[in-house]
Amino acid sequence: MNVAAALAQARALGLERLDAHLLLAHALQQSRAWLVAHDDAALSPGQQQRFAADCRRRADGEPLAYVLGEREFHGLQLQVGPAVLVPRPDTETLVDWALELLPTLPAKAPAVVDLGTGSGAIALALKHAHPAARVCAVELSAPALAVAQANAERLRLDVAWQPGSWWQPLRGRHFDLAVSNPPYIAAADPHLPALRYEPLQALSPGGDGLSALQQIVQGAPAHLAPGGWLLLEHGFDQADAVRDLLRRSNFDEIATRADLAGRPRCSGGRRRKV
Ligand code: GLN
Repeated sequence: MNVAAALAQARALGLERLDAHLLLAHALQQSRAWLVAHDDAALSPGQQQRFAADCRRRADGEPLAYVLGEREFHGLQLQVGPAVLVPRPDTETLVDWALELLPTLPAKAPAVVDLGTGSGAIALALKHAHPAARVCAVELSAPALAVAQANAERLRLDVAWQPGSWWQPLRGRHFDLAVSNPPYIAAADPHLPALRYEPLQALSPGGDGLSALQQIVQGAPAHLAPGGWLLLEHGFDQADAVRDLLRRSNFDEIATRADLAGRPRCSGGRRRKV
């Protein structure tokens, strides 16, 4: 079988053209440009087998990132697997907002924490783009934390990893900036079944989807330096609820930012200075 026939076979399974290209490039350890220039190149039996198995996984609905074992996020190539949420472009909104704030903070080496870090995407992107920051990341799931630590080692980024739930392992510590993309999908959300390959505990806290956001906001004043910021990702219809939580915990300068599709996706605020 050659490249053209392999791509046709993938399309016949129902795969998108881009996915078929990315999976074949992966199976052949070549670039997409190489594929286009070599549509008559023959696949070895091993490559054929690998590609057919990968195509079946994708056709069954498994996220492309899991089949490839990697996903790009904010310019970093991260390894991902079923222990962690697939990093999403929407979350780059949160990273960009944090990176705008970091240079405005009075601390030269600001203390930053990422709560529920998963693959480590946010913590690693912040450390990479703002190396002076002292970044700590908390994660309850041991398999997820192992993924994050492996990403940090491969990318040679220095982040302090903390097992635990939200603020619980950080007693007595204060941060200049806290960020989180917690589980926020409501239990009855019709989109949840389509995300069945990803860890449910990273997607939904159950109920109306607000309980993790609430815990994080309510614990934040005790763990933020005066004037420190809290930035949260949330569902497209949760901005009002999150802003309300922030107000009730006495945050100032409360604001919301939109994702790439223009939906309100992140809200944050600043702890009062006194
Ligand atoms: N944004 C993701 C989705 O809706 C969910 C991420 C999360 O729950 N933190 O698919």
